[in-house]
Amino acid sequence: TIDIRHIRQNPGLYEQNCIDRNYAAHSKSSWRIIELHEQWIALRQNARGLRERNKRLHAQLSQAAARVKKAGPKDAPAKQDMIAQAKELKTELTAVEAQETQLQEEMERLAQHLPNLSSTHTPVGTEPTVVGHINKHLSPGNSPSGQAWKSHVQIGQSLGILDFSSSSQTSGWGWYFLVGDGAMLEQALVQYALSVARRKGWTAVAPPSLVYSHIASACGFQPRDQNGEQQIYAIEQSEKDKSRPQLALAGTAEIPLAGMKANQTIEDTQLPLKTVGVSRCYRAEAGARGADTKGLYRVHEFTKVEMFAWTLPDHVGDEHFTSSHAANSEAVFEEMLSIQKEILSALGLHCRILEMPTTDLGASATRKRDIEAFFPSRRELDEGWGEVTSTSMCTDYQSRRLHTRTRIHGKLEFPHTLNGTALAVPRVLAALLERHWNEEDGTVAIPAVLRPFMGGQEKMQTG
Ligand code: AMP
Repeated sequence: TIDIRHIRQNPGLYEQNCIDRNYAAHSKSSWRIIELHEQWIALRQNARGLRERNKRLHAQLSQAAARVKKAGPKDAPAKQDMIAQAKELKTELTAVEAQETQLQEEMERLAQHLPNLSSTHTPVGTEPTVVGHINKHLSPGNSPSGQAWKSHVQIGQSLGILDFSSSSQTSGWGWYFLVGDGAMLEQALVQYALSVARRKGWTAVAPPSLVYSHIASACGFQPRDQNGEQQIYAIEQSEKDKSRPQLALAGTAEIPLAGMKANQTIEDTQLPLKTVGVSRCYRAEAGARGADTKGLYRVHEFTKVEMFAWTLPDHVGDEHFTSSHAANSEAVFEEMLSIQKEILSALGLHCRILEMPTTDLGASATRKRDIEAFFPSRRELDEGWGEVTSTSMCTDYQSRRLHTRTRIHGKLEFPHTLNGTALAVPRVLAALLERHWNEEDGTVAIPAVLRPFMGGQEKMQTG
């Protein structure tokens, strides 16, 4: 289902795309696919010739058999010779067919691992473009009231809502306990994000946390990223389970949500199909230790509310769906961003919106926008900015690999998919603590939109 012909016709485009996206190890794949395809054509011709010879031989063989029957065993040696030749031909043909399959599989494997083509909106290189702000009136360098800053780790520990020492005993680095108001704040954030998305017509889904590795890989998540770092926790299989497909812990609800429609057809009248999943996310984060070892910024397990949508492809045949078409990717991309802006703005966080560069697109996205919030505790790092949401437009990259189709005017096409964070709890919780902490009494104000989900509570305090 991957468009290998497009790759063969545009090898230079795919090579440059790999270079731009930091997939250098795959940059020669398009050229290799061309070589393999040429070998495959030669083999196919060879196989065709062998099949024709085989057919002729069988015709001669049945004539010889008829002669033996009619004229006696005089022709028997010739018949035996033909039987031996037919056997040889069959062995040769089986070998050629096996080689053909091997070449096809190798072309498919190389094509599967190529990243999506980047959109013209995407800056080439490593630098994002800042395209907007949220709550810009809040100065990023200082708190609204000009008070001192404290890190969320200190604030959370003094409020007794964040516990890293117990988790170091139970699970190690990168895990945490949320306690009391901390645990309730997580639930309130989830409920609030869900309420915004549901109001805009997104259907809530509680997906499984374990997924087949081939589903994760079809979504663009490999066990190791392009730098060779482990991305995913794979589930160890016992000897007797070895025949079953490998399972892994989902790093994001995007994987099970995309997988919900694997091998299925969605009617075009159902598009855009918009779901919002709540899940625990598991990240190995190997190689990411160092800068973010403290606190909630980079952890191994967290709760995330994630939007996932299927939309109309840009065009079908000669018919183009313009960007104003409510069911296409552009419109849903904008809707995801507006939901994120609404949530982050109501939480009183100062954020900036970025058009992400090619090296940040990963495998599946053609275009990506991240929103970063200001974390005073990260002042020394990235000038305080830290990613809180990410929105990706994936065109048909995932639907082709998952065999998800849509029927448009009776014809089967690949829908486009998009994913975007509605709310990832730990970083937002950290930013809230740092933003709304009151130096005078050590309390943290709870934003008004969360209070209905916390029994009307207005602030968190010690004791
Ligand atoms: P991603 O699915 O990697 O695009 O991440 C989506 C959002 O999840 C990010 O914008 C972060 O807010 C959050 N996130 C990702 N990885 C982690 C992590 N290791 N720890 C805490 N939050 C994370």
